[in-house]
Amino acid sequence: MAGRNHLFIPGPTNTPHEVLSAMHVPMEDHRSPDFPKLMKPVLEDLKKIFRTESGQAFVYPATGTAGWEIALTNTLSPGDKVLIYRFGQFSHLWINMAQRLGLDVEFHEVEWGKGIPLDALEARLKEDSSHEIKAVLATHNETATGVTSDIGGVRKAMDAANHPALLFVDGVSSIASIEFRMDDWGVDGAISGSQKGFMLPAGLAIVAFSQKALQATETAKFPRCFLDLKDMANANKDGYTPYTPSTPMIHGLRKALDMLLEEGMENIYARHHRLAEGTRRAIAAWGLKLCAQPGFESDTVSAVVVPEDKDARDVISTAYHKYNISLGAGLTEVAGKVFRIGHIGDMNDVSMLGAIAGVEMAMLDNGFDIKPGSGVAAAIEYYRSTAS
Ligand SMILES: *Cc1c(COP(=O)(O)O)cnc(C)c1O
Repeated sequence: MAGRNHLFIPGPTNTPHEVLSAMHVPMEDHRSPDFPKLMKPVLEDLKKIFRTESGQAFVYPATGTAGWEIALTNTLSPGDKVLIYRFGQFSHLWINMAQRLGLDVEFHEVEWGKGIPLDALEARLKEDSSHEIKAVLATHNETATGVTSDIGGVRKAMDAANHPALLFVDGVSSIASIEFRMDDWGVDGAISGSQKGFMLPAGLAIVAFSQKALQATETAKFPRCFLDLKDMANANKDGYTPYTPSTPMIHGLRKALDMLLEEGMENIYARHHRLAEGTRRAIAAWGLKLCAQPGFESDTVSAVVVPEDKDARDVISTAYHKYNISLGAGLTEVAGKVFRIGHIGDMNDVSMLGAIAGVEMAMLDNGFDIKPGSGVAAAIEYYRSTAS
């Protein structure tokens, strides 16, 4: 099919051609005296994305899932209690990992469509007066349902309970795209990956830890080797890594950081909000609803609920085969019930209008009762009236 396949999934996201070009480099000697000139500024600049001055950033040749494991195994010990809420496939998988590692996982079910219940969290932490809970695990942006939780609110709840637990945040589909403030929110471990807001291929776990979390590595008893933070920190001190890094990916990350920092974090947050809001206007014009309940809407991904007599998989299939666009599927509990439109990364008004038009065509082909052009018209009006 002529033209390219357009990615409107919430990761991997579209990689800008500048980043692709930057990665097109010969292999190089990662033990050379020159390598730290690349690596050290990358680690420093990452702190500006995480919004931390006191914390430290790390890059592993892995993915976001490894980021979860880095946080858990480097700071905790087998049998430690962790608290987490389950409201989508990604929080589900983090729970599963914590259980398989041998942590004592206290998880509470939350309706899919909502995020972390702050009042319940505060009450639970107040009840835990002996401080058995060693870490709170928070999924900032539940990519499966398009739900964003209030991490500043999580910190407030922890402070209100005067609870010393570590706060680990899965920001794989939020960091580098929607508001994330590691220092202001007192986040001890921030976890991301390369293929979402960072606009790179998959292949890097990008993480940052507070001094408190780094201190906890001294007493943590989980066995660890490849993902050991101390090994990484020791090598990083001189701008090296404990094992062979993916040097093209580090060059790509360098370019992505340049692009992100040139745009500026506040502008990036505002752009994602605008792109998401235009998409939401289109969804409303179709007469459809988000999986996310009011107040939880994500600015990086919208999960759209289809009418009960429809199967979201048909929309995704038509969109892919007939119009060459990729949409996100509904995962596990919402399979067939939702399709997802990613508005994350290297996107602008016109790319979103392509997504909205493609979705509209695929829905019409599948007999959805929508007015042709209605979603596109709503988004056009919003984007035109808010363009700078
Ligand atoms: C994509 C994603 C992950 C998993 O990341 P991988 O890079 O696939 O390991 C974890 N959490 C969230 C919220 C995600 O969106």
